[in-house]
Amino acid sequence: MPEDDRRAYPHIRALMAGSREGMIVITPDRVVRLMNERAEDLLGFGRGEAMGATLDSLAVPDLVGSVTAALDAGVMAMAGYDLGGREYTCAVTPYDDPDGGTGAVVTIRDDSEVTRARRQWEAVLSSTSDGLLVFDADGRITFVNPAAERFLGRGAETLIGLVADTWSLFDVQTDPETVERDGTAQLREIQVEKPEHRTMDVRVDRVLDDRGNAVGSIATIRDVTIEREATQMKNEFVSTVSHELRTPLTSIKGYIDLILDGEAGDISEIQREFLGIVKENSDRLVELINDMLDISRIESGRIVLKIEPLDLGERIAGAVNTFRAVVDQQGRTISVDVPDDLPRAAGDPDRIGQVLINFISNAIKYSPAGGDIELGAARVDSAVRVSVRDHGLGISPENQAQLFTKFYRVDTSLTREIGGTGLGLSICKSIVELLGGRVGVDSVEGEGSTFWFELPLAAPELVRTPSLEGPLGSPGGRILVVDDSEQAANLIATYLTRRGYEVRKASTPEDALVAALEFEPRVITLDVMLDEGAGFGLLQQLKNDPRTKDIPVVVLSIICDEGKSSRLGATRYLEKPIDKAKLVGVIDGLVGSIASPVVLVADDDRDIVDLLTHTLKQRGYAVMAAYNGREAMAAVARRRPDAILLDLRMPDMDGYEVLASLKADESTADVPVVIMSAYQLDYDRSSILKLASQLVCKPFDAEDFVSHVEAVIEEEGA
Ligand code: ADP
Repeated sequence: MPEDDRRAYPHIRALMAGSREGMIVITPDRVVRLMNERAEDLLGFGRGEAMGATLDSLAVPDLVGSVTAALDAGVMAMAGYDLGGREYTCAVTPYDDPDGGTGAVVTIRDDSEVTRARRQWEAVLSSTSDGLLVFDADGRITFVNPAAERFLGRGAETLIGLVADTWSLFDVQTDPETVERDGTAQLREIQVEKPEHRTMDVRVDRVLDDRGNAVGSIATIRDVTIEREATQMKNEFVSTVSHELRTPLTSIKGYIDLILDGEAGDISEIQREFLGIVKENSDRLVELINDMLDISRIESGRIVLKIEPLDLGERIAGAVNTFRAVVDQQGRTISVDVPDDLPRAAGDPDRIGQVLINFISNAIKYSPAGGDIELGAARVDSAVRVSVRDHGLGISPENQAQLFTKFYRVDTSLTREIGGTGLGLSICKSIVELLGGRVGVDSVEGEGSTFWFELPLAAPELVRTPSLEGPLGSPGGRILVVDDSEQAANLIATYLTRRGYEVRKASTPEDALVAALEFEPRVITLDVMLDEGAGFGLLQQLKNDPRTKDIPVVVLSIICDEGKSSRLGATRYLEKPIDKAKLVGVIDGLVGSIASPVVLVADDDRDIVDLLTHTLKQRGYAVMAAYNGREAMAAVARRRPDAILLDLRMPDMDGYEVLASLKADESTADVPVVIMSAYQLDYDRSSILKLASQLVCKPFDAEDFVSHVEAVIEEEGA
């Protein structure tokens, strides 16, 4: 042995003696030259026996085979083998011997524990019924359990080593819907077609090591088909039950109203008081059923939301008015602070009204000792925030966190006494979130609460479609009421007859078709649940027949069919139990709109719009009101007016542009336009103004002006 090697020998010995791996040095002539203690333990024979012995005499065929192969090839090799019930890994590293030829250093490691642990984890992961896919940091699949193989319809061998996006592995029916996403995970619901239609929840989480570094990700796949079906059944059940409850309630509520209105003759004070209690409770029942239906609609995704530019000041004023009487009676005040230049938000006016009413009624309910209520609205970045503040019970931080969940109520003797269902706030939250906003509460227990919501600002291209308002005063006319429930039909007929309408009733689709032709009604009210849903068929028939297609149909229903109804051509949709004022309002509006000439008033000054609307309605006109040029165009697209009163300076498309596009379109070119302007006319564009019928300068007297307009309409009509 050369001198240098000899000097290194004690160090090498020490190194080998301290190693937890077995080490064997094999000479080029395949003789064991060195071996450490650990190798003796692992191989089960002493050094004295082995040193100088040939490789073959190690008597571990797998080990000998690997070493021989590595020596023959002259490259490093790794191999695993079993011995005495344990599992070893050996590494063979060839070296060039100074005396010539190639020797090898063999290291042997006992991997039994590691392997056992790995097997155990694999067994655990393999036996879960959720599908699991493990990815390394490069996105390569390193593990697939049998459930995942089943869900994906392919074997692990085709997946391991693949770099793939989890979602792309599925044979997906529609684009996966992202259900939830946070910093580390994404949850999506996937509809899978193969081998049968199933719904899968797929969740991808990042895998972090103990220092928080991302070392890969894990996808969990759960088959939620049964849960989804159960949820759907539950929703259908709630819908059906609510429907069944609403039918009798419609009659109860309607007839109580009639008795209280004195329609059944005089009643005594005590009768009035008792009926008042019955009415109050039936109203509560209707409210509860409506809440349950709202929840089931939201949960099943059947809720229909409009998105239009909202004047939140207007909404707030409307909601506050509902409570004015109650609040006055209690000797408290309700104040509103809305800046004049509050930008418009985007949302559904009716649903936002519902949210406001909920917040305000809670503010009143949960401040039993009184105290003022303050409403405010302000722009916050790219949203509008509306808040309702009370000085009532307040809410503890723990309760605040849960308030917006279904059925959650703060449980104290006080709140128990106040009563409620705990559904209101959860509905508010869903509505606001579906509209792209958020809700929240700030509160100090014992001092009061501020409930708020934020809605995104309305984009400039979002356009409100102005509604048509009929003339003031009772119009009269023929109405066909189609309903298979005699009681319901009688109730509607009573409401409408008292309003001055001539009513005919039909209880089957056949009768209704005959009546629609003979009676020539101006409006038809239709219960679509007629004859187990035959109402939709009837609606379609009415709309397909040129003789009846222009008669507006108001759909009345206990089920949520707004979408389907409007698709089939219904003009309006009202939910049962019928609200008398709403029904009458809608019918008045429709009859007015057909009988009277329609005038569109377009001006960004709301006071002028209000004044003209009122004056025109008084004179028997139906009016559409637009606050900017785009809204005016949207209104015209919805219904061609008989005359347009147009302001020139308006945001979002000015009067000149409106006039030019009206005149450029054949279908609206002959609608008379009266220009109202307070400003110097723009002479560069004066050629456009020649297209107008009249030009009136502001300020003007509304009565005179409307007389003027009347003359224009008559002239054009002649
Ligand atoms: P309900 O009023 O029918 O119980 P909500 O969902 O509207 O249902 O409210 C849930 C709970 O939140 C109420 O039971 C009440 O405990 C609490 N809460 C709501 N508004 C207020 C408020 N303004 N002040 C104090 N507590 C409130």
